[in-house]
Amino acid sequence: MTLTEPGRLTPVLSDLWGTDRSWTLDVYRKSGGYQAWKTAQGMDPEEIVTIMKDSSLRGRGGAGFPTGLKWSFLPAPDGGPRYLVVNADESEPGACKDIPLMMANPHVLIEGMAITTYAIGGHHAFVYLRGEVVHVYRRLLQAVREAREAGLIGKGVGPNKDYDLEITIHAGAGAYICGEETALLDSLEGRRGQPRLKPPFPAVAGYNARPTVVNNVESIASVPGIISRGADWFKAMGTEKSTGHGIFSLSGHVRNPGQVEAPFGVTMRELLEMTGGMREGHELKFFTPGGSSSPIFTAEHLDVPLDYDSVAASGSMLGTRSLQVFDETTSVVRVIRGWTDFYQHESCGKCTPCREGTYWMRQIMHRLEAGRGVPGDVDLLLEVSANILGRSFCALGDASANPIQSGIKYFREEFEQGYTTPAWELFPYEASALETKAGA
Ligand code: SF4
Repeated sequence: MTLTEPGRLTPVLSDLWGTDRSWTLDVYRKSGGYQAWKTAQGMDPEEIVTIMKDSSLRGRGGAGFPTGLKWSFLPAPDGGPRYLVVNADESEPGACKDIPLMMANPHVLIEGMAITTYAIGGHHAFVYLRGEVVHVYRRLLQAVREAREAGLIGKGVGPNKDYDLEITIHAGAGAYICGEETALLDSLEGRRGQPRLKPPFPAVAGYNARPTVVNNVESIASVPGIISRGADWFKAMGTEKSTGHGIFSLSGHVRNPGQVEAPFGVTMRELLEMTGGMREGHELKFFTPGGSSSPIFTAEHLDVPLDYDSVAASGSMLGTRSLQVFDETTSVVRVIRGWTDFYQHESCGKCTPCREGTYWMRQIMHRLEAGRGVPGDVDLLLEVSANILGRSFCALGDASANPIQSGIKYFREEFEQGYTTPAWELFPYEASALETKAGA
């Protein structure tokens, strides 16, 4: 779903969503598609990097690092290859913005990749995609084929017919850790995906140890709009330090789950009001401002502006902007137990705090959900999670600890009820409760 109501909602990346055959080159071109690529080819690469820096676009993958600045970290050209790798490994529970974007409008990504690769002095770009999303893989392949046949990418493109650009769509084997940029590069090179020690950062030694920019799908898809309309247009949206627009994914106990494009700084209350609110007769209990890896928020955070700094100042992270919404019928223990299962399963095992800690947290969360916890389990959870936070090799460790720590912060009593009472007795209306009861 994309809302086009004027005011706070800003359909830019999603302006074609819902248009018949929006994914085709023909439709994209009729809406002005590939004009930015044409404009960019008449510019010096440094000029493009400067515009991107001026726009203050922050990486849309979660960390929020300034995109143009990242491009500028590449060392001076030495005649060797330089690469762009688009991180399309979207796989966190609840995260759902890049896949709809690639399905509805793959050409805005291809155009952004062409401009970016040209700007960094490269000739080869990759999309690293989850292998499971075969429909997206096929759509991207089709879009690349269309762009190549139209002479937009390939050998001898551009006004002087002297620029070569190859785009490869790479399907990964489906490990969450491959969303971490250096694990992704290992996987792309054909090895088991595990995070690398940094430095060196990918800008200096990335794919095949060559200078590489790794950016999220939405970041790169934002590039054509900024080149066409300018940095000031982009900066006029959002907040001073979180400029522009972004796709927010609403899921869970809301009336209208889906993707909504809005300027950064929009609040959860505004998003709920604009999309029809909670399901009828129910009220919000907690939500994730940035996906399952972010500390949870409660109703007291409904008016926190959803921008990087405001969310951080309130104790969470904007992350993937996946707003998973839960009402009063939900067991917070049960939800966080599900996320903990995920992180334990996806831990790559490289470092001890995450490998061992997620295992122990999972055991305790299962006990609490089943009403078989023992007094002291909640403090033990806090202790184990504190030994993961900030002590793991990559962000997955922190991601596993964040929901547990914040869940206990806001709902400690509910966790302690797990010493005596199963979650399915405390929250009998949960649709899936019977499954667990049957399997207990
Ligand atoms: Fe692997 Fe977890 Fe350590 Fe990251 S934090 S390197 S996923 S074991």
